[in-house]
Amino acid sequence: EEDDREVSVGFGKRAKAFATGGVIIQPEHLDEPLETLELSLLSSDVEMGVAEEILAGIRENLEGTVRAQVQSTDMVLESALKEALFDVISVGQFDFDQHVAETDKPLVMVFTGVNGVGKTTTIAKLARYFERHGYSAVLANGDTYRAGANEQLREHADALDKKFIAHEQGGDPTAVLYDAVEYARANDVDIVLGDTAGRLHTSNDLMAQLEKIDRVVDPDMTLFVDEAVAGQDAVQRASEFNDAAEIDGAILTKADADPQGGAAISIAHVTGKPILFLGVGQEYDDLERFDPEQITDRLLE
Ligand code: GDP
Repeated sequence: EEDDREVSVGFGKRAKAFATGGVIIQPEHLDEPLETLELSLLSSDVEMGVAEEILAGIRENLEGTVRAQVQSTDMVLESALKEALFDVISVGQFDFDQHVAETDKPLVMVFTGVNGVGKTTTIAKLARYFERHGYSAVLANGDTYRAGANEQLREHADALDKKFIAHEQGGDPTAVLYDAVEYARANDVDIVLGDTAGRLHTSNDLMAQLEKIDRVVDPDMTLFVDEAVAGQDAVQRASEFNDAAEIDGAILTKADADPQGGAAISIAHVTGKPILFLGVGQEYDDLERFDPEQITDRLLE
């Protein structure tokens, strides 16, 4: 079994594989199976450029390597694909709970992403998540641009019985988040969950606002929120937000409406940052830790 693994990824013990009657994998052996794999990745909504890169990597790893005679090229490919997908999907993963436990309080989390993707709901879900883990939280609305944003987050804060911090519409979001951090310090609150605007006059304004928050508030974690179902749009946005605000990870909402999980692999690949949670419904408890192995298996089903 040990030998099979090594042969399948193309490393080491080649001579031994020959001795046991191995077969060299030729480029043309890979054409058809890789095409089939590509179609299945694309049908799972993995972005085309990302799918092509993954497959090119697999080809490079496998061409000219030796497989045991008992294995078919398909079997070798299957395990190579699984490994390649897992590598992409698990990029940057860290032990979130341990990280939270070890960070000096208050731990400040700021959420970025465009309107309508479920950002506000996700903040509320995380407040519930932290409560279950024994942490207190304050909710702060750094979206001072959108009318109704204060009320929306306040409703969640009330429903969850959390302190809510906000300023007038049009105020400085950095000042709101700063106030929330001060409040948390003064009242021994463990976690600050700060919303930010999902849209401003121009995307330059938005990115400048995020940069200012980054500079002045210096959050412990900046998380990007988008919809699993948004496919390529979400990938594009993840990359833009990551360039502007250096995200530490992503949360994908509405995964309940996306059985395949292709956006996760694309976003992890283009940002190099971990997917940390999946939103799986509209209730406060509908938030799951992202499990790279489970998503890999689902993509390969
Ligand atoms: P925001 O504008 O990004 O803050 O979006 P909201 O938090 O207001 O959410 C927009 C809509 O998406 C609401 O109807 C939410 O209930 C819904 N929503 C949020 N997360 C999820 C999720 O994980 N699954 C489903 N099915 N709906 C969600």
